[in-house]
Amino acid sequence: MDVKPKKKLGQHFLTDENIAQRIANSIDFKDENYPKPICLEIGPGTGVLTKYLMQNQDIDLNVIEIDQESVEYLMANYPSLYNENRIIGGDFLQIDLKKYLQDFPIICGNFPYNISSQIFFKILDHKDTVKQVVCMIQREVAQRISNHEGTKEYGILSVFLQAYYDIEYLFGVDEHVFNPPPKVKSAVIRLKRNNVEQLPCDEKLFRRIVKESFNLRRKMLRNSLAKYFKGLPEEEKYLTLRPEQLSVNDFIELTNLLSKNIVE
Ligand code: SAH
Repeated sequence: MDVKPKKKLGQHFLTDENIAQRIANSIDFKDENYPKPICLEIGPGTGVLTKYLMQNQDIDLNVIEIDQESVEYLMANYPSLYNENRIIGGDFLQIDLKKYLQDFPIICGNFPYNISSQIFFKILDHKDTVKQVVCMIQREVAQRISNHEGTKEYGILSVFLQAYYDIEYLFGVDEHVFNPPPKVKSAVIRLKRNNVEQLPCDEKLFRRIVKESFNLRRKMLRNSLAKYFKGLPEEEKYLTLRPEQLSVNDFIELTNLLSKNIVE
């Protein structure tokens, strides 16, 4: 029995075992609070990566897969996972992660590329439990997330994720090692939770400011954030900058500056 790849679920099955092994080996987790952390694999498909994650003795593996046909394939071919109830059939974006008795400090997977941004936003919602992410995604998204200010790939997700995670671009992967080959190139990245519990600013306002400024990415902040800047001195340095020029710390400083302005 084989699983026929379904386009609408972003199914591109990895055919190169060496790359699967390299991804599994990229987990680099040490945390005394988690002697045997659970790794949640998103979108195992037919289990090419699953197989190597299961060989890692330092972690316990759970998987979540939306495609019923793949779930049945996994149940038949990975009986040890099935017998221990480690195969979750469902949509990662919909499941209530808190419902599970244990945390998932590690998230891994060859993500469905069409929803990778939504996956990262959900990870951010659970940033207090998700300590490490190792994943394969579309190369442009990998660059956007791991690049710093001053590059054209830098954007909303870069700022949000870099605020709470140290991000490494590990290696690129070409399209011909997938069945069917995707139209885009891929890359593997690793995110490690930094020690920032809370940003030193109003986090809600920070998120609003980052979003609103990147929504008008080519405009200077004096235009995209005009309503927040009202009444501030003309020489304020941020007025003439564009969002991609601001580091995470600049956005924090800007948030503090503008929040005072809103209160007054
Ligand atoms: N890990 C496999 C498959 C990668 S393709 C491999 O490397 O070969 C992406 C997988 O994610 C597919 O199996 C797809 O069915 C699954 N998927 C897509 N959307 C999902 C969602 N919302 N929640 C869980 N799995 C999802």
